[in-house]
Amino acid sequence: MHTFVLSDPSRCIGCRACEIACVKAHLGDYTGRVTRRQMPFAPRITVVHEAEVTAPIQCRQCEDAPCVSVCPAGAITHDGEVVRVDESRCFGCKACMAACPVGAMQVGHLPGKPDRLLAYKCDLCEDRDGGPACVAVCPANALKIMDGGELQRIAGGRRRHSALQVAFGQR
Ligand code: SF4
Ligand code: SF4
Repeated sequence: MHTFVLSDPSRCIGCRACEIACVKAHLGDYTGRVTRRQMPFAPRITVVHEAEVTAPIQCRQCEDAPCVSVCPAGAITHDGEVVRVDESRCFGCKACMAACPVGAMQVGHLPGKPDRLLAYKCDLCEDRDGGPACVAVCPANALKIMDGGELQRIAGGRRRHSALQVAFGQR
């Protein structure tokens, strides 16, 4: 089962620290150039503000990912751990962007590649010690890494709750 980052909108305070941490995680020493407009600010997590709600949106690392299915270049793959974009194969057709049901896939200019539009998405900060930078930096604990074990733990708790409700009418 793929691991993914899950957000809790009820906790999110809309500070956008996760977006900044994402950019820094992918740009490293070049992060400072973003402020001088030499490189695009292209986070792989987007904080959406709607009415009274702020919610970070990012890739769910779908098991049967629509973006993988529609890519005509075979540029998007998954290996059981994460759904990846191979920038060397992507030619920017945007089919993945249209297919993504949560709006997580983006197509745009990436740092250092000003002449090409490329697809990009959350890669779980695979190369970063300590895992996804957005999770580490969020001051409100609104982001959580969900893996198979965590999902089973949550589902198990809900099953027990449901069983008690069925048996005793408890809440
Ligand atoms: S860092 Fe946390 S609280 Fe701030 S916008 Fe991102 S998810 Fe919301
Ligand atoms: S980019 Fe969208 S469709 Fe592709 S794995 Fe992520 S959430 Fe699923």
